[in-house]
Amino acid sequence: MAKDYYSILGVSRDASDEEIKIAYRKLAKKFHPDVSKEPNAEERFKEISEAYQVLSDKEKRAKFDAGELDEKEINVEYTNYSLREILEFLITGNPPRRSKILTVPIEITIQEAVFGTQKEIEYESYAPCAYCNATGAWQANTWMLCPKCKGAKYVTRIVRSGFSRQVVQELCSRCRGYGQVMEQVCTYCGGKGRTLVRKRNIIVVPRGIDDGMKFIVPSLGDFSEDGQGDLAVQVKIKPDPYYRKIGADLVFDLHIGIVQAALGCVVPIPTLDGIPLSLSIPQGTQPNTQLRIQNRGGYRLKNPSRGTLIVNVIVEVPRTVTQRQRELFLEIAKEQGCDSELLKQGHFNKLV
Ligand SMILES: [Zn+2]
Ligand SMILES: [Zn+2]
Repeated sequence: MAKDYYSILGVSRDASDEEIKIAYRKLAKKFHPDVSKEPNAEERFKEISEAYQVLSDKEKRAKFDAGELDEKEINVEYTNYSLREILEFLITGNPPRRSKILTVPIEITIQEAVFGTQKEIEYESYAPCAYCNATGAWQANTWMLCPKCKGAKYVTRIVRSGFSRQVVQELCSRCRGYGQVMEQVCTYCGGKGRTLVRKRNIIVVPRGIDDGMKFIVPSLGDFSEDGQGDLAVQVKIKPDPYYRKIGADLVFDLHIGIVQAALGCVVPIPTLDGIPLSLSIPQGTQPNTQLRIQNRGGYRLKNPSRGTLIVNVIVEVPRTVTQRQRELFLEIAKEQGCDSELLKQGHFNKLV
């Protein structure tokens, strides 16, 4: 059976908006996980928030009454709000203000991710309006007391519901709760106090960062009423033809021939740090063997230690052989007791 939002909030089906709001406020105070000691507070709070969200919205409430509310139309965004934010929201009708973090993407090489780097980034973001000094007013001292609320920030209104009359406080619509209004709005920023500008900054990319990670650069984000915001830098690592980065480990594919695999050899590895590395491949190394060299991988994030360099040994069988090589392979075959007549005719080639 579908949930009955009315009984969840404990109101009648013809409850007024105000009754619904009062019921929600009472229940939110009782079940908000910030304050509640009830065992199933979180569950209950979600439930009452969902009920309030639907019943406080005229359109959704009508659909719910008609049994036509689609589940997709229900969202429970209030569940992320603190109790204080919810109570404020119920008085003012304005959802809580969350300062948004500006995100800028960058692309770096695997080398830069391993060892860290500095990057110049260019992006658009909000800066304080230089004309009004971020006040939004045309002149810095043109604020005046709000004529509607006389600076009280709230206005009272009487709401009648049934036989009862209730006095409710509402945020002043003229000054939006500031208690002051501007005589004249800054024409440059339209009264917003900020303007969109192109910024260029050099940022430090920490070593050990991984593909898809974000890191925060303080104070380089958007300016807003809440002050100077931070900037989030989203990292993408360009694919490298030789190396792959898995956490702090680096993976390198080393291609060797069958003779090197059979007899063993010493191979120079092109390292990302430029420090020469000669790797001994033992004789009889099998295809897909992994050789691990400790402390030669990438740096760990916020840690001076390094991961492992993993060398994947890929043994390549020659696709073509010269006449001389063929003779030598036949010699080996003879040594191993193979029927060299069949090999000569390419018998095994046909079977493949
Ligand atoms: Zn006012
Ligand atoms: Zn301005």
